[in-house]
Amino acid sequence: MNIIKNLILGSGPAGLTAAIYSSRSNLEPVLLSGNEPGGQLTVTSLVENFPGFENGILGPELMNSMREQAINVGTKIIDDTAISVDFSKKPFVVSTERNGELYAHTIIISTGASAKWLGLEGEKRLMGKGVSGCATCDGAFFKEKVVAVVGGGDSAMEDSLFVSKFASKVYLIHRRDEFRASKIMQDRVKDNPKIEIIFNSEIKDIIGEDKVVSIDIFNNKTGETKNVPLDGVFIAIGHTPNTSIFKSSIDIDDNGYIKVHDFTKTNIAGIFAAGDVSDPKYKQAISSAGMGCIASIDSLHFLEDNNLTQ
Ligand SMILES: Cc1cc2nc3c(=O)[nH]c(=O)nc-3n(C[C@H](O)[C@H](O)[C@H](O)COP(=O)(O)OP(=O)(O)OC[C@H]3O[C@@H](n4cnc5c(N)ncnc54)[C@H](O)[C@@H]3O)c2cc1C
Repeated sequence: MNIIKNLILGSGPAGLTAAIYSSRSNLEPVLLSGNEPGGQLTVTSLVENFPGFENGILGPELMNSMREQAINVGTKIIDDTAISVDFSKKPFVVSTERNGELYAHTIIISTGASAKWLGLEGEKRLMGKGVSGCATCDGAFFKEKVVAVVGGGDSAMEDSLFVSKFASKVYLIHRRDEFRASKIMQDRVKDNPKIEIIFNSEIKDIIGEDKVVSIDIFNNKTGETKNVPLDGVFIAIGHTPNTSIFKSSIDIDDNGYIKVHDFTKTNIAGIFAAGDVSDPKYKQAISSAGMGCIASIDSLHFLEDNNLTQ
């Protein structure tokens, strides 16, 4: 049986950073890239907050460079997806879509999270051209512009407050007549003169050719639709962590995120989690990459402690 010392699931910033570190620790890592090679950054345009690029870098270009770097230092990348796992056995077993079963002494789960979207045609077409799923990442592009934030939870409140530092006006659009966000966050939003709250309303269309120019908002109480000119739309209706295949094998919180302690350790020794899959809070490329680094070093220590490095 061929046993992989360090198997990495996912090829976003967390997985590829883990792969670079594990390669340089002689762990001969194998990485499954999944059905979104490069991860979430491949659907965005300019990334201005990843250190090392004085003028920013395009998301797909950054992820391609990380992949090439991982290969150059010795990572074996398999373009395949994990479909089930058995963590009760040693070595651990991961079944894949096209390459059968893989056996590993340590596993780093870095399968990320998927942002939830409204499902509008204009949303997809204008992604990175005014439509964004990440206010922390893209808020600064909207200096003195008019934007909308969609959602009613703490993330939507946080995003509205963050974007209001740059934008001249923020419409906060929510489909119900009250927010589910914490009271303190709601109060901060209500006290902010740049934020206008629009309850009972849903975006029906995002309009624009090469960039967002307006949205159609449907009021689900009055049945009226109005067109609102603006420059950007931030979707803040939540994320779904990609953990369905791990649910019966590992500790997961109520929202589907893998529970970790000491940064990346799960409840099973030898299984680590890194990046958005275990991070409901920060959800950034650089924080994910940092966790990938930690997970790799933790894997090395586990292998050394259990005499499994040979
Ligand atoms: C539109 C948009 C713009 C963004 N802009 C920025 C920005 O400017 N700056 C910033 O710091 N952050 C930005 N982010 C957030 C950033 O992309 C994420 O925080 C980061 O990509 C998370 O990295 P990750 O490695 O944890 O997971 P992901 O990037 O989500 O990658 C997950 C990987 O896991 C793989 N995978 C999933 N399931 C399986 C499976 N069963 N088997 C094997 N592989 C699997 C996928 O194929 C994918 O490769 C943005 C996000 C979005 C959506």
